[in-house]
Amino acid sequence: MREPRDVIIIGGGPAGSTAAAVAARAGLRVTLVEKKAFPRYQIGESLMPACYWTFERLGVLDKLRRANFVSKQSVQFYSKTGVPSEPYYFPDFDPHESSWTWQVERSAFDQILLEHAAGEGVEILQPATVRDVHFDGTRAVGVLVDEPGSGTRDLRAAVTIDASGQRALLARKLRLRTLDPNLMNCSYFTQYRGALREPGGDEGVTLLVATQRAETWFWYLALPENRVSVGVVGPLASLVRGRSKIPQTVFEEEVDNCTVIRRRIAGAEQIMPVRVLRDFSYCSTRIAGDGWVLAGDAFGFLDPVYSSGVFLALRSGELAADAAVAACDSGDFSATALGSHGREYVAGMEALRRMVYAFYAEDFNFARFVRSNPEQTNALVHLLIGTVYRVPVDGLIAAMEAFSPLPSYEPLRLNER
Ligand SMILES: Cc1cc2nc3c(=O)[nH]c(=O)nc-3n(C[C@H](O)[C@H](O)[C@H](O)COP(=O)(O)OP(=O)(O)OC[C@H]3O[C@@H](n4cnc5c(N)ncnc54)[C@H](O)[C@@H]3O)c2cc1C
Repeated sequence: MREPRDVIIIGGGPAGSTAAAVAARAGLRVTLVEKKAFPRYQIGESLMPACYWTFERLGVLDKLRRANFVSKQSVQFYSKTGVPSEPYYFPDFDPHESSWTWQVERSAFDQILLEHAAGEGVEILQPATVRDVHFDGTRAVGVLVDEPGSGTRDLRAAVTIDASGQRALLARKLRLRTLDPNLMNCSYFTQYRGALREPGGDEGVTLLVATQRAETWFWYLALPENRVSVGVVGPLASLVRGRSKIPQTVFEEEVDNCTVIRRRIAGAEQIMPVRVLRDFSYCSTRIAGDGWVLAGDAFGFLDPVYSSGVFLALRSGELAADAAVAACDSGDFSATALGSHGREYVAGMEALRRMVYAFYAEDFNFARFVRSNPEQTNALVHLLIGTVYRVPVDGLIAAMEAFSPLPSYEPLRLNER
C-alpha cells in the first residue's frame, strides 16, 4: 500500500524549508516537522550573494525584497592594528542582482521560507519534535514524532531528509559526524541597538575585524531596526581554556582587546545576552543512505567566516529535494541514487574550506596573495560571492596552495553504501 507521504523533512530552517518547497512543487507529498514555534532566534544573519539562485528557483525573491532586510553589497577586513582593507564591493565584479544580498533577521527570514513551503502545499507540523528515525534493515522508513498535546506517533515516508541543523539527528545516530581538527573554534555573540552604522549604501557591509592579539576576530554587521550583530570567533584554546565561565565576561574582554569594535559599540545598548557556540565545524562521512539524505548543517558546517552556512543550507536543500524527486520517479531509493549529488556538493564545500583555512593560517595573507597573483582577484571575490557551483575555482585553489601550503584534512569518505 502506498504511504500517505513521499518525503519527511526534519527541521524548518533554510535547508528544510528549501527542500520541502522544491519537493512539493515537483508534486511530491511532503511533511516537514519543526521543533520550535516560529519566530525563533537563530544565528547566521549574513547571507552570501549567491543565495540568489535558490531564492529565484523557489520564487521567493519578491517576499525577501519586501522584508526590510539590510542590503549587503560588500565585505571589509580590518587588521589587528585596526587598518581597514578597501571594501570588496561584490557588484563591481558582476553587476547582476545575484551579486548582492541581505543581512537578515533569521527569525523573520526563516519564517518567510517556511511559510513559502506551506504555500507550495507542504504539511507542516510545528511545534513537533522528531525523536528518532526508523529503519527497516538499512533503509530509513520514517520517523517518530512527538507533538505537544497529541503524544507520539509514527510517520512513514519513502525518503527522510534530515535538515535538523547542528542537532544533526541522523549523523549523530549513525556516528557519521567528524569534527574538523583544523577548525576547533568557538564563538560568543550578541546584538546591540544604536551602535555605529556605515552611511548610505555601505550600511550593509560585513566587517571582519582581527583583535589585537590576532588569535580571534569579530564579525560586525547591521540588522534592521537600528540593531547590529557582533560576534567573536577563535580557537577553543584561546577563548575557552583558562577563561571565565561567564560568557559576558569573555565577550567584554575580547571587545577590550579590539579598538575598532569597542569604538563602534560605545554608548550602544546591548539587547541580547551573550550566547556561546562551539564544536560547530564538522562534516559527515556520508551524505545519503538507503531512504535518507542529509542537508545543511545536518550534513556539515565550515565556520562563520565568509557567511557560507545559509548558502550551503539552501543549495543542499535543493539538491536533497532533487534527489528525492528522482528517487520517487525511478523507484530507486538506494544510497547511491539519493547521494548522487554528493561529490559535486562536497567539491564546492571543500573549495570554501580551503578559503577558511587560508583565513586562519598564520603564513597566509590575502593582501600579499592578491599582489602576487593579481589574475586571481576575480576568482577570489567570486568565491566570497558564493559562485562555487557556477564558476570553476580549481585555478584559484591551486594558486593559494602554491602561495602557502594550507593545513591538510582527511578527505570525506563519501562512501555511498
Ligand atoms: C557563530 C556562528 C555564526 C554564523 N554566522 C553565519 C552567517 O553570518 N551567515 C550564514 O550564512 N551562516 C552563519 N552561520 C551558520 C548558520 O547558522 C547555519 O549554517 C544555518 O542556520 C544552517 O541552516 P539549516 O537549515 O541547516 O539549520 P538550522 O538553521 O539550524 O535549522 C534547523 C532546524 O531544525 C530544527 N530541529 C532540530 N532538531 C529537530 C528535531 N529533532 N525535530 C524537529 N525539528 C528539529 C531546529 O529547531 C531548527 O529550526 C553561523 C554559525 C555559527 C555557529
